[in-house]
Amino acid sequence: MTSSPVTLVTGGSRGIGAATVRQLAAAGHDIVLGYRTDHTAARTVLADVHAAGRRGTAVAADTADPTDVVRLFDAAEELGKLTGLVNNAGVGGSRTGPLTDLAFDDLRHVVDVNLVGYLLCAQQAARRMTTGAAIVNVSSGAATLGGPGEYVHYAATKAATDALTIGLAKELAPRGIRVNTVAPGIIDTDFHATVGNPDKATTAAARIPMGRAGTPDEIAAAIVWLLGPHASYTTGANLRVSGGL
Ligand code: NAP
Repeated sequence: MTSSPVTLVTGGSRGIGAATVRQLAAAGHDIVLGYRTDHTAARTVLADVHAAGRRGTAVAADTADPTDVVRLFDAAEELGKLTGLVNNAGVGGSRTGPLTDLAFDDLRHVVDVNLVGYLLCAQQAARRMTTGAAIVNVSSGAATLGGPGEYVHYAATKAATDALTIGLAKELAPRGIRVNTVAPGIIDTDFHATVGNPDKATTAAARIPMGRAGTPDEIAAAIVWLLGPHASYTTGANLRVSGGL
């Protein structure tokens, strides 16, 4: 009997990560779900993993903390050989605005979670994975749009994510490990409320070519595809899922 894929999803308690966990479980993956503080949300998603008949565990770990990240990946290995990483836990800071108005603490936090956190998780994954494994880095359309007047600091970390994918895909291809990016447009999650813009999904709709924000499930579907066997020759790719934005 072949063993089930074991996939670690950071930021799996809410939004895009939670939708990804549910779709992966439905596709037969055992799951390690990382999150930071929302224990109730994490428990709810984990219950859905178990209801789908898969093994799973939820680990509270700050992805910007190297010790926490090692603990998170150790928990994954208790389920078996790690075959997938979804580098997804991300933040936008406590508010949006022009760069001139943003506080140092916000700049630091966004870089720590979105860039240092992704690097730490990618490093652990690269050390532990073997042939056939895959990583998906969740970037943002902001990486190419730039986020002027709102979040250029966030956009800069997402452009760095795109560079991480390009380099790591080449570094790991000889070992049979694929690395890809999914770049969502504006998706209807709690993310916008945390940056002080709770109505973003509605107010931004008019400037999205498809006329609406996306759903977490629409991003999860792209992630699941990139992790799966149908994407076996896809590495270093950046799949934009943005309604045309
Ligand atoms: P979300 O709903 O705000 O969820 C964020 C998730 O990340 C939560 O599970 C949260 O855990 C976790 N998290 C935050 N900081 C963490 C840390 N330091 N350590 C570990 N986990 C942490 O966000 P989302 O909208 O699903 O976004 C997911 C990813 O998509 C992010 O990388 C974001 O930049 C990207 N993205 C989002 C949009 C959008 O419009 N929503 C667009 C483009 C890209 P807790 O539940 O414990 O807080």
